[in-house]
Amino acid sequence: MSKRDYYEVLGISKGASKDEIKKAYRKLSKKYHPDINKEPDADEKFKEVKEAYEVLSDDQKKAHYDQFGHTDPNQGFGGGGFEGFGGFEDIFSTFFGGGSRRRDPNAPRQGADLQYTMSLSFEEAVFGKETDIEIPREEVCETCSGSGAKPGTKPETCRHCHGSGQLNVEQNTPFGKIVNRRVCHYCNGTGKEIKEKCTTCRGTGKVQKRRKIHVKIPAGIDDGQQLRVAGQGEPGVNGGPPGDLYVVFHVRSHEFFERDGDDVYCEMPITFVQAALGDEIEVPTLHGKVKLKVPAGTQTGTKFRLKGKGVPNVRGYGTGDQHIIVRIITPTKLTEKQKQILSEFAEVSGTVPQGEQEESFFSKVKRAFKGE
Ligand SMILES: [Zn+2]
Ligand SMILES: [Zn+2]
Repeated sequence: MSKRDYYEVLGISKGASKDEIKKAYRKLSKKYHPDINKEPDADEKFKEVKEAYEVLSDDQKKAHYDQFGHTDPNQGFGGGGFEGFGGFEDIFSTFFGGGSRRRDPNAPRQGADLQYTMSLSFEEAVFGKETDIEIPREEVCETCSGSGAKPGTKPETCRHCHGSGQLNVEQNTPFGKIVNRRVCHYCNGTGKEIKEKCTTCRGTGKVQKRRKIHVKIPAGIDDGQQLRVAGQGEPGVNGGPPGDLYVVFHVRSHEFFERDGDDVYCEMPITFVQAALGDEIEVPTLHGKVKLKVPAGTQTGTKFRLKGKGVPNVRGYGTGDQHIIVRIITPTKLTEKQKQILSEFAEVSGTVPQGEQEESFFSKVKRAFKGE
């Protein structure tokens, strides 16, 4: 059942003055008082009037009601509109997330993961390689062994948060006082206070260093794939394990080969004489030159497959194939002698192309004309 509007209950307008609210309440509370009014719903009406007056006679409650209506803050968020109180995050962390956010600043934590992008040539990706990379990363400060305190001194427990790394912050809201837990800004949530800072790391316990890491790139790695180098990320905190390093590969394209997974594709140009008479041609592959027999009567677009001449599978499952697509090149510059020979060829061949595919195409055309 939806609640009636408080102004409606008291029979007044929204802009009613304090006096008008009071007058309306006196009148109605008398009218519905259970001692006077014996109608069955009088008791309910009396309570309704009383509740409306309690809210509208209280400046703070009235302001809240005018803004949010019948939203009971103790029963969840109803109609929303809470952004007015300094951001959702504070409210949510107070009501919902407050507990889970708390963590012991002294507990061991894993270091952050790092990412490094490496550019590889087509062949390097196919065959893999070993290389050293230099990455900037945080390392434990050797001067203070990561404590951040000047050698000979020790970090002390933070006086402000007593080592918890969190502070309680009271905040006034229209619902009353709420308590927020916030990261202690005196110790940045570490729970420790360093009186005399280590001069090498300025109290952070960490220093930026460029570190050389040996990376073994497996044969068959492809563009966009990544390699995890365990334990080569940033160092852990409070004795936690280090993070990992992720090397992401960008593979450059090849002028002749195209790659699709473990298979490699390329186009081979051949002359129309080679195509007509057949020939043995030399084809480049990633694994060296290979002889390929082109049978007589080869059409342009015919595909050939060289088994095992593709890319080794990155997980060791065999090697892909190389696919060759032949393109028959029509000569553009002919000598007089070549023209003469071709003219003679044309004379004995006629103007209808000779070949199985074309014949069937022409017979189809013929049938179409005959209406078969
Ligand atoms: Zn603190
Ligand atoms: Zn240091």
